[in-house]
Amino acid sequence: KLLKDTSISLEFLKLRANEQKILKELHIASYAFESQEAMAITDANANIIKVNKAFEEITGYKQEEVIGKNPNVLKSDKQSHEFYAKMWGELKKYGKWKGEIYNCRKNGEIYPELLSITAITNNKGETTHYLAQFLDISDIKKLQQEAEFRANHDPLTSLTNRTKLKQKTKQAFLEAKNRGVQHAFFFLDIDNFKYINDFYGHATGDAILIEIASRLKKCTKDGDVVARLGGDEFAMLSYDVGMQELESIQQATQLAKIIQKVMKEPINADGHPFDVTFSIGVKIFPNHENGYEEVISHADIAMYKAKKSGKNKFAFFDTELDIELKQFSLLEKEIKQALINREFKLYYQPKVDVTTNKIVGMEALVRWSHPIKGILSPDKFLKTVTDTKNMYALETILIEQVLQDISEWKNKISNYNYTVAINITPKLFLNDNFIPFLKANLKRYNISPSLIELELLENTFINDLSQAVGKIKILKSIGVNFAVDDFGTGYSSLTYLQKLPVDSIKIDKSFIMDLQHKSNREIVKMIINFAKLFNLKVVAEGVENIKTLEFLQSYGCDYYQGYFFSRAISSEDIYNMIT
Ligand code: C2E
Ligand code: CA
Ligand code: CA
Repeated sequence: KLLKDTSISLEFLKLRANEQKILKELHIASYAFESQEAMAITDANANIIKVNKAFEEITGYKQEEVIGKNPNVLKSDKQSHEFYAKMWGELKKYGKWKGEIYNCRKNGEIYPELLSITAITNNKGETTHYLAQFLDISDIKKLQQEAEFRANHDPLTSLTNRTKLKQKTKQAFLEAKNRGVQHAFFFLDIDNFKYINDFYGHATGDAILIEIASRLKKCTKDGDVVARLGGDEFAMLSYDVGMQELESIQQATQLAKIIQKVMKEPINADGHPFDVTFSIGVKIFPNHENGYEEVISHADIAMYKAKKSGKNKFAFFDTELDIELKQFSLLEKEIKQALINREFKLYYQPKVDVTTNKIVGMEALVRWSHPIKGILSPDKFLKTVTDTKNMYALETILIEQVLQDISEWKNKISNYNYTVAINITPKLFLNDNFIPFLKANLKRYNISPSLIELELLENTFINDLSQAVGKIKILKSIGVNFAVDDFGTGYSSLTYLQKLPVDSIKIDKSFIMDLQHKSNREIVKMIINFAKLFNLKVVAEGVENIKTLEFLQSYGCDYYQGYFFSRAISSEDIYNMIT
């Protein structure tokens, strides 16, 4: 029935009567056809008998040119023999196949497509036709590569960013132990940079940071990492500086002196020469630390020691400093106390239907109601909590808080039916205690699991896809909803999407807030079409104005969140909003 809504489908309805019947039996009607989706029908011997317009547009072949031919006219040499053998094997066995594949256009250009092939059978169970449907995903691939670069690099200097540096340090840490070598981690903080920004403006500050980045790169050997951690903080990871401590310290000292030397020459920006110096903290590792996180924090501590002794100094981390470390992380301590004092509160941002503009649910977002500093947003503290045991405590407290709030609303509002989305870190989701914890609390507060939705980040699936999927399935079986958060920024490939039994995806706000750029509009359109293909609902985050909303309406986006409708507000305020 859905078929008749689209013009493409009309072409197919012109097929011979029995084919028409077979087509009707297909499950392809479960979503609306999109004009971007190419289709080809072959007979049982895989000879093409029909293709649509999108097929012609994507492949460059006209229908007349491919009728009677095998679809392998599109074949590129990017896939192996075994790949095709496996595909046909699956097709014969299960009657369908879905995956990413590289094909070749008529003009010779190779492009990635998301392909699904369905065998069409008659009532005797014999295959009579095959239906191939595919989307050209070159744009999305490119977007993924760009997103990956953005995810790993500092936008101003293009140096490695904090996230990637952490990963590299972790790798280096694990690998050094096996190889019996030592590496050096440098924490570099510019002395008095703040005053440059304050007196000369950010443009000058930025120009200086870019020049610093290029000078630092000249100090390192091939393969070493130079990173910008944000603001005026840089870091370097220098591999293989020695086999034992004395040697490593000597090597690292040399490198620190080289850095001081290349920074001696004043940097010219905005017509002024600027003298830039660093305070440098160095950590040689592996060397008595519990895990790679300590490599970074030890270098940070060493940097503070250098800074205390004046400008343009460097210092190594030593065990004496370890004692200071014990009293170090003030914020972390404060957070611990805040947990005890119950200073973390949940705010709720409405999730709204794009067409009706009615609230359909909300997302729970944490705030720290700090006794002195007031209401703090997560970017002020969440980083410090993540990776510590406090995160587990915080997240579980928040989940209980959500359930308690829902239970209260349910009691006060008849026919209460709003789904509340909760952000879950990969660590918590993959924790063995998570499912029992959640189930127990749903029971305790007497909340139907279908009233909550868990938002997972793409990196939840990176290390062990099947484990994550298994957990999702368990919780889905009792009715819990799932969304993929920040979609479009992660590393995961699109193939993940089809393997994830989730209900919706949330397009990251970086795309939505920038919809005046055509490329972002194309991406968003594409993501929406894609989600439809997998029967997923789409939520757009960061809708700040009516124009954006209008775009989303025309693209068929399902829901949105954003300042345009409302910021995240307290539980009392959201209660008033929904009653
Ligand atoms: P997120 O999950 O992507 O949440 C959306 C963020 O976008 C929220 O920031 C929200 O206030 C903000 N936002 C919503 N609409 C707009 C808009 O129109 N314009 C702009 N500029 N921003 C908008 P918030 O509350 O600061 O949260 C930041 C991040 O902290 C969240 O990103 C999430 O990753 C994390 N987070 C927040 N609460 C929790 C929590 O309870 N548990 C966990 N694990 N993470 C949380
Ligand atoms: Ca979220
Ligand atoms: Ca998000």
